[in-house]
Amino acid sequence: MSVPKIYRIKLGVCSTYVIRDRGTILVDAGPPKQERKFVRKAGAAGIDPGEISLIVATHGHMDHIGSLAGIRTITNAPILAHAYEKRIIEHALVTIPKGTTPWGRVMRIAIRLSEKNIVFEPTMVDITVESENPHDGYPLDRFGIGGKVIHTPGHTKGSLSLLLDSGDAFVGDLLMNGFPMRRGPGTPIFADDLETVKKSVRMLLSQGATRFYPGHGNPFLAGDLIGID
Ligand SMILES: [Zn+2]
Ligand SMILES: [Zn+2]
Repeated sequence: MSVPKIYRIKLGVCSTYVIRDRGTILVDAGPPKQERKFVRKAGAAGIDPGEISLIVATHGHMDHIGSLAGIRTITNAPILAHAYEKRIIEHALVTIPKGTTPWGRVMRIAIRLSEKNIVFEPTMVDITVESENPHDGYPLDRFGIGGKVIHTPGHTKGSLSLLLDSGDAFVGDLLMNGFPMRRGPGTPIFADDLETVKKSVRMLLSQGATRFYPGHGNPFLAGDLIGID
Protein backbone atom coordinates (compact mmCIF):
# COMPACT_ATOMS: atom_id res chain seq x y z
CA MET A 1 0.00 0.00 0.00
CA SER A 2 1.41 3.35 -0.95
CA VAL A 3 1.18 6.25 1.45
CA PRO A 4 -0.69 9.20 -0.04
CA LYS A 5 0.60 12.75 0.37
CA ILE A 6 -1.91 15.09 1.97
CA TYR A 7 -1.85 18.86 1.57
CA ARG A 8 -4.13 21.11 3.62
CA ILE A 9 -5.05 24.29 1.77
CA LYS A 10 -6.96 26.79 3.89
CA LEU A 11 -9.39 28.93 1.92
CA GLY A 12 -11.03 31.41 4.31
CA VAL A 13 -12.81 29.49 7.07
CA CYS A 14 -12.61 26.19 5.21
CA SER A 15 -9.78 23.68 5.03
CA THR A 16 -9.62 21.99 1.65
CA TYR A 17 -7.35 19.02 1.06
CA VAL A 18 -5.33 17.84 -1.91
CA ILE A 19 -4.60 14.11 -1.84
CA ARG A 20 -1.81 12.93 -4.09
CA ASP A 21 -0.78 9.36 -4.79
CA ARG A 22 -0.71 7.85 -8.30
CA GLY A 23 -3.30 10.56 -9.05
CA THR A 24 -4.35 13.83 -7.43
CA ILE A 25 -7.79 14.78 -6.12
CA LEU A 26 -9.23 17.75 -4.22
CA VAL A 27 -11.64 17.65 -1.28
CA ASP A 28 -13.93 20.72 -1.14
CA ALA A 29 -13.46 24.15 -2.72
CA GLY A 30 -13.87 26.74 0.07
CA PRO A 31 -16.06 29.87 0.30
CA PRO A 32 -16.81 32.14 -2.70
CA LYS A 33 -14.04 34.07 -4.48
CA GLN A 34 -11.15 31.84 -3.35
CA GLU A 35 -10.03 30.65 -6.81
CA ARG A 36 -6.93 32.80 -7.03
CA LYS A 37 -5.90 32.00 -3.48
CA PHE A 38 -6.31 28.31 -4.29
CA VAL A 39 -4.02 28.54 -7.31
CA ARG A 40 -1.45 30.52 -5.31
CA LYS A 41 -1.45 28.18 -2.30
CA ALA A 42 -1.50 25.02 -4.39
CA GLY A 43 1.42 26.34 -6.44
CA ALA A 44 3.38 27.15 -3.28
CA ALA A 45 2.86 23.53 -2.17
CA GLY A 46 4.16 22.25 -5.52
CA ILE A 47 0.75 21.28 -6.87
CA ASP A 48 -0.21 22.06 -10.45
CA PRO A 49 -4.01 22.61 -10.45
CA GLY A 50 -4.05 20.84 -13.82
CA GLU A 51 -3.01 17.55 -12.19
CA ILE A 52 -6.25 17.43 -10.16
CA SER A 53 -8.50 14.82 -11.78
CA LEU A 54 -11.47 14.91 -9.38
CA ILE A 55 -13.10 17.37 -6.97
CA VAL A 56 -15.20 15.85 -4.19
CA ALA A 57 -17.79 18.16 -2.62
CA THR A 58 -18.34 16.77 0.90
CA HIS A 59 -21.64 18.67 1.15
CA GLY A 60 -23.56 21.63 -0.20
CA HIS A 61 -22.72 24.41 2.25
CA MET A 62 -21.40 27.56 0.66
CA ASP A 63 -18.19 27.59 2.73
CA HIS A 64 -17.27 24.31 0.97
CA ILE A 65 -18.70 24.84 -2.52
CA GLY A 66 -18.48 28.63 -2.91
CA SER A 67 -15.48 28.42 -5.28
CA LEU A 68 -16.38 25.08 -6.80
CA ALA A 69 -17.37 26.58 -10.17
CA GLY A 70 -14.19 28.63 -10.41
CA ILE A 71 -11.83 25.83 -9.33
CA ARG A 72 -13.57 23.48 -11.73
CA THR A 73 -12.85 25.86 -14.59
CA ILE A 74 -9.19 26.11 -13.56
CA THR A 75 -8.63 22.36 -13.07
CA ASN A 76 -11.08 21.05 -15.65
CA ALA A 77 -11.80 18.24 -13.17
CA PRO A 78 -15.21 16.56 -12.76
CA ILE A 79 -17.20 17.19 -9.57
CA LEU A 80 -18.47 14.38 -7.40
CA ALA A 81 -21.30 14.90 -4.88
CA HIS A 82 -24.13 13.00 -3.29
CA ALA A 83 -27.47 12.97 -5.08
CA TYR A 84 -29.09 14.84 -2.18
CA GLU A 85 -26.71 17.82 -2.59
CA LYS A 86 -26.79 17.94 -6.40
CA ARG A 87 -29.64 20.46 -6.63
CA ILE A 88 -28.02 22.74 -4.03
CA ILE A 89 -24.76 22.82 -6.02
CA GLU A 90 -26.37 23.15 -9.42
CA HIS A 91 -28.65 26.01 -8.29
CA ALA A 92 -26.24 27.61 -5.78
CA LEU A 93 -28.79 27.41 -2.96
CA VAL A 94 -27.88 28.68 0.51
CA THR A 95 -28.84 26.19 3.23
CA ILE A 96 -27.98 26.29 6.94
CA PRO A 97 -28.71 23.36 9.27
CA LYS A 98 -29.88 23.65 12.89
CA GLY A 99 -27.51 24.62 15.70
CA THR A 100 -26.65 21.66 17.95
CA THR A 101 -25.22 23.78 20.79
CA PRO A 102 -26.17 27.25 22.21
CA TRP A 103 -23.13 28.68 20.35
CA GLY A 104 -24.21 26.94 17.17
CA ARG A 105 -27.67 28.49 17.46
CA VAL A 106 -26.17 31.98 17.89
CA MET A 107 -23.88 31.45 14.88
CA ARG A 108 -26.83 30.23 12.86
CA ILE A 109 -28.77 33.44 13.50
CA ALA A 110 -25.71 35.48 12.45
CA ILE A 111 -25.39 33.50 9.22
CA ARG A 112 -29.11 33.81 8.49
CA LEU A 113 -28.92 37.61 8.86
CA SER A 114 -26.18 37.78 6.22
CA GLU A 115 -27.81 35.13 4.05
CA LYS A 116 -29.07 37.50 1.37
CA ASN A 117 -25.51 38.75 0.85
CA ILE A 118 -24.21 35.25 0.20
CA VAL A 119 -23.92 34.57 -3.49
CA PHE A 120 -21.86 31.98 -5.30
CA GLU A 121 -21.72 30.51 -8.75
CA PRO A 122 -23.63 27.30 -9.51
CA THR A 123 -21.92 24.43 -11.33
CA MET A 124 -22.82 21.02 -12.71
CA VAL A 125 -22.27 17.84 -10.71
CA ASP A 126 -20.64 15.25 -13.00
CA ILE A 127 -20.58 12.18 -10.76
CA THR A 128 -23.49 11.55 -8.43
CA VAL A 129 -23.12 9.14 -5.52
CA GLU A 130 -26.20 7.39 -4.14
CA SER A 131 -26.58 5.92 -0.67
CA GLU A 132 -27.88 2.37 -1.22
CA ASN A 133 -24.72 0.64 -0.14
CA PRO A 134 -22.59 2.93 2.03
CA HIS A 135 -20.15 0.15 2.95
CA ASP A 136 -19.08 -0.39 -0.65
CA GLY A 137 -18.75 3.31 -1.32
CA TYR A 138 -17.51 4.89 -4.53
CA PRO A 139 -13.97 3.63 -5.31
CA LEU A 140 -11.26 6.20 -6.00
CA ASP A 141 -8.80 3.77 -7.62
CA ARG A 142 -9.67 5.08 -11.07
CA PHE A 143 -8.36 8.46 -9.91
CA GLY A 144 -5.14 6.95 -8.59
CA ILE A 145 -6.12 7.06 -4.91
CA GLY A 146 -6.50 3.97 -2.72
CA GLY A 147 -9.77 4.56 -0.94
CA LYS A 148 -13.44 5.34 -1.39
CA VAL A 149 -16.13 7.95 -0.96
CA ILE A 150 -18.77 6.97 1.60
CA HIS A 151 -22.17 8.46 2.39
CA THR A 152 -21.92 9.81 5.96
CA PRO A 153 -25.18 11.72 6.61
CA GLY A 154 -25.97 13.76 9.71
CA HIS A 155 -24.45 17.22 9.17
CA THR A 156 -26.51 17.28 5.98
CA LYS A 157 -28.54 14.54 4.35
CA GLY A 158 -26.05 14.08 1.52
CA SER A 159 -22.74 14.53 3.37
CA LEU A 160 -19.85 12.47 2.03
CA SER A 161 -16.54 11.38 3.53
CA LEU A 162 -13.42 10.02 1.87
CA LEU A 163 -11.87 7.04 3.62
CA LEU A 164 -8.42 6.12 2.36
CA ASP A 165 -6.84 2.67 2.72
CA SER A 166 -4.25 4.43 4.91
CA GLY A 167 -6.95 5.16 7.54
CA ASP A 168 -7.08 8.89 6.70
CA ALA A 169 -10.68 10.15 6.67
CA PHE A 170 -11.75 13.48 5.11
CA VAL A 171 -15.07 14.26 6.69
CA GLY A 172 -16.17 17.77 5.69
CA ASP A 173 -18.34 19.00 8.58
CA LEU A 174 -19.24 15.58 10.00
CA LEU A 175 -16.67 16.47 12.66
CA MET A 176 -15.24 19.86 13.64
CA ASN A 177 -12.12 20.87 15.53
CA GLY A 178 -11.41 24.27 16.95
CA PHE A 179 -12.49 27.90 17.03
CA PRO A 180 -14.85 29.39 15.97
CA MET A 181 -16.69 26.10 15.78
CA ARG A 182 -15.69 24.30 18.97
CA ARG A 183 -12.78 23.81 21.41
CA GLY A 184 -11.74 20.22 20.73
CA PRO A 185 -12.44 17.60 18.09
CA GLY A 186 -16.02 16.36 18.09
CA THR A 187 -19.48 16.63 16.59
CA PRO A 188 -20.42 19.74 14.55
CA ILE A 189 -22.16 22.77 16.04
CA PHE A 190 -24.58 22.66 13.11
CA ALA A 191 -26.29 19.47 11.99
CA ASP A 192 -29.50 18.19 10.47
CA ASP A 193 -29.43 15.33 12.96
CA LEU A 194 -26.82 14.75 15.67
CA GLU A 195 -27.67 11.08 16.24
CA THR A 196 -27.15 10.41 12.54
CA VAL A 197 -23.79 12.23 12.77
CA LYS A 198 -22.66 9.90 15.56
CA LYS A 199 -23.83 6.86 13.63
CA SER A 200 -21.83 7.95 10.58
CA VAL A 201 -18.70 8.58 12.68
CA ARG A 202 -19.00 5.15 14.30
CA MET A 203 -19.34 3.64 10.82
CA LEU A 204 -16.11 5.34 9.69
CA LEU A 205 -14.32 4.12 12.82
CA SER A 206 -15.57 0.56 12.26
CA GLN A 207 -14.23 0.73 8.72
CA GLY A 208 -10.74 1.65 9.88
CA ALA A 209 -10.59 5.48 10.10
CA THR A 210 -7.63 6.41 12.33
CA ARG A 211 -7.05 10.07 11.49
CA PHE A 212 -9.65 12.72 10.69
CA TYR A 213 -9.29 15.77 8.44
CA PRO A 214 -12.18 18.17 9.17
CA GLY A 215 -13.35 21.12 7.09
CA HIS A 216 -12.80 23.40 10.09
CA GLY A 217 -9.80 23.07 12.41
CA ASN A 218 -6.73 20.87 12.59
CA PRO A 219 -6.61 17.19 11.67
CA PHE A 220 -6.73 14.88 14.68
CA LEU A 221 -6.42 11.23 15.70
CA ALA A 222 -9.45 9.02 16.20
CA GLY A 223 -8.40 8.51 19.84
CA ASP A 224 -8.79 12.26 20.53
CA LEU A 225 -12.43 12.33 19.45
CA ILE A 226 -14.84 13.62 22.11
CA GLY A 227 -18.47 12.66 22.58
CA ILE A 228 -18.96 9.80 20.14
CA ASP A 229 -20.44 6.92 22.17
ZN1 LIG B 1 -21.40 22.43 6.58
ZN1 LIG C 1 -18.34 24.16 6.91
